[in-house]
Amino acid sequence: MTNQREASCIFCKIIDGDIPSYTIYEDENIKAFLDISQATPGHTLVVPKTHVKDIFAYDPELASKTFAKIPLIAQAIKAMDPKIIGMNIVNNNGTIASQSVFHSHFHLIPRYSEQDDFK
Ligand code: 5GP
Ligand code: ZN
Repeated sequence: MTNQREASCIFCKIIDGDIPSYTIYEDENIKAFLDISQATPGHTLVVPKTHVKDIFAYDPELASKTFAKIPLIAQAIKAMDPKIIGMNIVNNNGTIASQSVFHSHFHLIPRYSEQDDFK
């Protein structure tokens, strides 16, 4: 698998730059960008550049390339704001589990010392 895209996929269009996004981190395998509707400030989505629908579609190589970078991106987001004291990392798989975009992604949701909106 070498970064295959799916023509009708909104996140593939973001990866290709056809839909604008605010990029937090990018390398040859993954892209991290701000969620369009942030649960808390800095809410970021991490996606593999290869189109895979959900966690069940990863092969081990794509899994290691994608998962290995999540701590690094979480640390970079936390370093941006001293008020961030925690983070939820969420991955929804299937409509039953509230997945709405069927290009696998990980939500990195910073949590703040003050009251925040994420429950
Ligand atoms: P899911 O419900 O599939 O776990 O999460 C999909 C996420 O994608 C939602 O949090 C939603 O706000 C975000 N999203 C949907 N469309 C776009 C878009 O065009 N740009 C960005 N940056 N985020 C999007
Ligand atoms: Zn896609």
